[in-house]
Amino acid sequence: MRGFINADIWKNTATAFIVDEGRFAFLGTDEEVKQRLTESDELIDLQGMFVTPGFIDSHMHLLGYGHFLNGLQLADAHSVMDVMRMLKKKADEHPDWIIARGFNEELFDVPAMPLKSDLDAVSTEIPISITRVCGHKMIANSKALELAGIGPDSVIEGGYIDFEKGYLEESGMNPVQAVWPKPTVESMQKDILAGSKSLNSYGITSCGSDDFVSLSNDWRMVIDAYMRLGYQRRMTVRVNEQCHFENPREFAHFLDEGYTFDVGDDYFRIGPLKIIADGSLGARTAALTKPYSDAPEKKGILIYTKSEMKIFLELASRYNMPSIIHAIGDRALDQVLKLYDDIVLEGNPLHHGIVHCQIMTPEQIRKVVDMKLNCYFQSLFVDFDAKILNSRVGEKRAASSYPYRTLFEGTCASNGSDAPVEVPDPLKGIQLAVTRTSLDKSASMNPDECLTVDQAIESYTEKAAQTFFADDRLGKICEGYIADFAVTDRNITKIPADEISACRIMMTVMDGETVFER
Ligand SMILES: [Zn+2]
Repeated sequence: MRGFINADIWKNTATAFIVDEGRFAFLGTDEEVKQRLTESDELIDLQGMFVTPGFIDSHMHLLGYGHFLNGLQLADAHSVMDVMRMLKKKADEHPDWIIARGFNEELFDVPAMPLKSDLDAVSTEIPISITRVCGHKMIANSKALELAGIGPDSVIEGGYIDFEKGYLEESGMNPVQAVWPKPTVESMQKDILAGSKSLNSYGITSCGSDDFVSLSNDWRMVIDAYMRLGYQRRMTVRVNEQCHFENPREFAHFLDEGYTFDVGDDYFRIGPLKIIADGSLGARTAALTKPYSDAPEKKGILIYTKSEMKIFLELASRYNMPSIIHAIGDRALDQVLKLYDDIVLEGNPLHHGIVHCQIMTPEQIRKVVDMKLNCYFQSLFVDFDAKILNSRVGEKRAASSYPYRTLFEGTCASNGSDAPVEVPDPLKGIQLAVTRTSLDKSASMNPDECLTVDQAIESYTEKAAQTFFADDRLGKICEGYIADFAVTDRNITKIPADEISACRIMMTVMDGETVFER
């Protein structure tokens, strides 16, 4: 048994608790807890610090995030020259491949996209691919394009290729990803562990993770990597897998082999089918009904036709498997809502959902609420998107976009990071959900849609647990629940909202065991 005293527990008058066999065994006063412990038990004084349930990041890419942490990161680049310098340093180690990720040209001192010629200046011998922070756009050098079989006349369905500039968007990235060095189960385990360790440092103990197509299209290998870590008792984050397939045939194989929704345990469980309907706002590939306000020739990309997406959904329906669909633009959302009309039952008992929920019309918001679709939003996006939203879509469309409060109060809405797109920091995410103002305070979104701090914490705990059908054991601090919790240095419900992101996670506990400590 482990006793924790002198705690400031969220939504609870108890000041102390005991964890035993991985569960919260008792909550009460410091005295009551001390009386119940014996000499051999551990007693921890939390010195008045704030205790919340372990945070649940409802949508991210754990394998991709870990791979990103273990690989070359370009997040700190402030110019094309910076990107080239970082690549050159890597090239001097003579690797077989250079795979880098995370640059955001909008944050460069002079916004400019790197070009194929820039990467060729680094090396024409070593294949190089660099992926934009959003994960929806890539630039490849001549060698990488050659290996991928991409030439001046190449076109691809559901994507975009500009051979001259070396730009690849959406499905256009697939041929290059297909010739990346093949990961192994061991390398995937290393990536998962690196990602998990980082999540623990942000107070996260569970996540919804989309991994099957992150590094290769081998979903069997991903399941194998997770299961082995589970058997070895090395998982420090619970994973609800959001199953994403290259095509319906792969999904059919998966079902044929006996995998389906909810198979697994509380360390690795098969979650919903994941489908991507469009791209991202940053890369202007999110599918809009009317053109981008700052690029009148662009309306974004729909990845599938309605009938292609229907094949996925019908297959899922046959196995009672819920689906969650990435939709950022209103045109993508229209496609999804039309399909959901046919398959979502009243009250949405299977928890079908929409991931991102960004550019939405008032009518679409009403429909999502009426259908009780589960919403997976990422308030962390506010920090950057508040700065580009008005110019990308104009004030009218911006006003009804990212409608967090309406979705939170009308549906089951959970919060996440989409890591490696954003750093998976829930405290930052909570501040951004509450203020809807960029951290540098230079831009904000419609203030009517701000969450309260309690709502924002719920979006990272109870609501996410509900989304995963795990609210009978996760997402709350009460007797009988699994002992996953985070300790923050200050009570974030009692301080000014703009100080929340500066608070620090001091300890993260999963299954009653400490997995992070500052
Ligand atoms: Zn994602």
